[in-house]
Amino acid sequence: MPDDAIGLPEVGAGGSHIGPVLLSARNLRKFFPIRGGLLSSHIGDVRAVDGVSFSIHEGETVGLVGESGCGKTTVGRLLLRLIEPTSGHTFYHAPPEVIDRVERAYGEIGPYASKEDGESNKWSPSAQAALKELDEIADQYSIYRKNHRAMKSLRGKLQIVFQDPFSSLEPRMMVREVIAEPLEIQKVGTHNERMARVQELLGEVGLSPEHAYRFPHEFSGGQRQRICIARALALRPEFIVLDEPTSALDVSVQAQVLNILETLQREHQLSYLFISHHLSVIRAVSDRVVVMYLGRVVEHTVTDELFSRPLHPYTQALLSAIPIPDPFLHRERIILSGDVPSPAYPPSGCHFHTRCPAVMPVCSRVDPPLAEVRPGHWVACHLYPPPSTSPASGGAEAPTSEGMALSTSVEGEPLSATPSTPLTTSTSTP
Ligand code: SF4
Repeated sequence: MPDDAIGLPEVGAGGSHIGPVLLSARNLRKFFPIRGGLLSSHIGDVRAVDGVSFSIHEGETVGLVGESGCGKTTVGRLLLRLIEPTSGHTFYHAPPEVIDRVERAYGEIGPYASKEDGESNKWSPSAQAALKELDEIADQYSIYRKNHRAMKSLRGKLQIVFQDPFSSLEPRMMVREVIAEPLEIQKVGTHNERMARVQELLGEVGLSPEHAYRFPHEFSGGQRQRICIARALALRPEFIVLDEPTSALDVSVQAQVLNILETLQREHQLSYLFISHHLSVIRAVSDRVVVMYLGRVVEHTVTDELFSRPLHPYTQALLSAIPIPDPFLHRERIILSGDVPSPAYPPSGCHFHTRCPAVMPVCSRVDPPLAEVRPGHWVACHLYPPPSTSPASGGAEAPTSEGMALSTSVEGEPLSATPSTPLTTSTSTP
């Protein structure tokens, strides 16, 4: 698949600083087993992440949004291999032509198939050949195939900043020990060199040299988060998962931390996965946005496009909840009925059909694929059927006028589920 087909921003925030693909998640699944009964046997799975695919480019910030429990944090941990996937791969520094081959292989064997599924004996010869090719590519580029030694060195390149700066710092360690710890684990430099690096990092995050000799409890929340960022930067990473990094901070401090992250990204060409349910923050910091619902990606595009033209009914509902700082502007709020279903027992068909204001009969039966309905704009919804399931081909029913009329407005701009241009759809992966 060509590089631009996996979402390289053409519009939106500062696309000029974006480099080649750094990480490419393909069909990631993570199921947590449910055990019960006297023998603690396996009675089901919590499908925390269920077939997630997207790429992150060098120097790019990808925002990941969705309600609590939709699998955002699990995706972040999978990208760092803090947990092992049930299936799927995250390719690191894979050239575009390799990702093309991966797409072709998944097209042959199916999106969720993998060696780990243990079903290769029932596949056709061409599917088995595709699986073999996927295996060879994974051996070379997938972070889940790295051995312990290779993974240890990769850890320095892939870092994380957690939501809560209070619990993510060891209270008995001085700041200089906290920041120098990754350097010691990786045996980088002498003691004096490590201390010099600590001072350099403190300066980069806006703290003073004397702060190195204090304990975490002596700092405010914003300062602690800066210490966490300094620790994440210690090994000169390429990619950082920012897991709700400003949620636990006062509003006045949030902007300072976001500015520091932006400056560091510019200076070090860092790539971020910014996980948040705060849509205004996502809009301010992201080049592209991935919207998740119940373990799956439902919409994925560049930031300006998503906020000016959300297509998925779930995204429209999320955006309708953003407060407008103008008493004279009105926006129709879309209230979703019911609770988020349990990921242990997800609804059939479209996972969102139990709450969707535009639901159609087909939605409970057929799972909508993630399809490219506008250039670089991917949506999983039967309102935008791919050609193979279009009404003309006898597949999904045509959307009802009620469903297509779903609309709202953001900051006075009309937003509509109805595309103004003819839809050209593709179902390969973003
Ligand atoms: Fe709503 Fe159906 Fe689209 Fe799902 S597929 S978001 S239920 S219209």
